Amino acid sequence: MLRIFLISIVALIALGATAIQYRFDLAVAALSSDSPPPLLDKRELSATERWFDDYYTIDSIDARTHVIGEPRASGPVFSYLIEGRDRAVLFDIGYPSANILPVVESLTDKPVLAVPSHLHYDHVGNLERFENIALLDTPQRRSQMEGDIFSPTHVQYLGSAEGHEIPRWKITKWLSEGEEIDLGDRTVRVVFTPGHTDESISLWDETNAQLFTGDYIYEGPLYAFLPNSSLTDYLTVAENLLLKLPKETKLYTAHRMNITGTPVLEMRDIVALRDTLEAVRDGEAAGSGFFPTRYPVNDRIDLDADIPWYQGWSE
Ligand SMILES: [Zn+2]
Repeated sequence: MLRIFLISIVALIALGATAIQYRFDLAVAALSSDSPPPLLDKRELSATERWFDDYYTIDSIDARTHVIGEPRASGPVFSYLIEGRDRAVLFDIGYPSANILPVVESLTDKPVLAVPSHLHYDHVGNLERFENIALLDTPQRRSQMEGDIFSPTHVQYLGSAEGHEIPRWKITKWLSEGEEIDLGDRTVRVVFTPGHTDESISLWDETNAQLFTGDYIYEGPLYAFLPNSSLTDYLTVAENLLLKLPKETKLYTAHRMNITGTPVLEMRDIVALRDTLEAVRDGEAAGSGFFPTRYPVNDRIDLDADIPWYQGWSE
């Protein structure tokens, strides 16, 4: 009897250990479907937004900075067209189930460089439709090149969550950390902002006090529990941004949950994020849930982190 009991306990522990080891795959599998979820109903837009068609919205931060929204996607996403005198950058490309190119062409006749903040499927949607594509240069990405063609891994892309095949893109430019992209009379700087993934970037227009954050920060739960997420990186980046960026800098983010219009946060949200990360590192923050473990940052932001003993903090 004791033997059966012991065998059962060992089997349960093994099952639990396996579940924990495969927690990312199990979480993705639990959230996955064969196709994108149905679109949300059209909602009223903010005063400055307009519909481009039935799906995309356009907002303008200023005459040369446009926000292309996909508010009907189940996780609304926002991409940014940043224009200079000679060229424009499209920072993030949205979901693969729609075509952003006509929206971009309606806003600019200048050559457009498409730059994804990272490779998750909701940020690289129609990248293959663009002639000029730039990625942050990393040894990992270089090792994935076949000639001038790049294809993301499953973990980099995560598109299986909505039934998307892994895409292939022709890369025309490699970006380095700190590099200034010259748009003519305007420049944006590449800022390496890992945390959400180990390859994420933001773009900084210092003159106009605008930081385009990608998924580093946004209103809602921050995904800091993915296989290539790092809380240590999240904290290092927060400290660096607080040192480098003026207090009045506006943060234009890729997602939002409850607010309407263009998703914008402020530097004080990064202060709150840094404080939360320090408290989590020091074991002083009470999280809820198991995987992910959720820590409140402020009334608009939560941090969804890995199970506490797998958070892997390093100096
Ligand atoms: Zn992402």
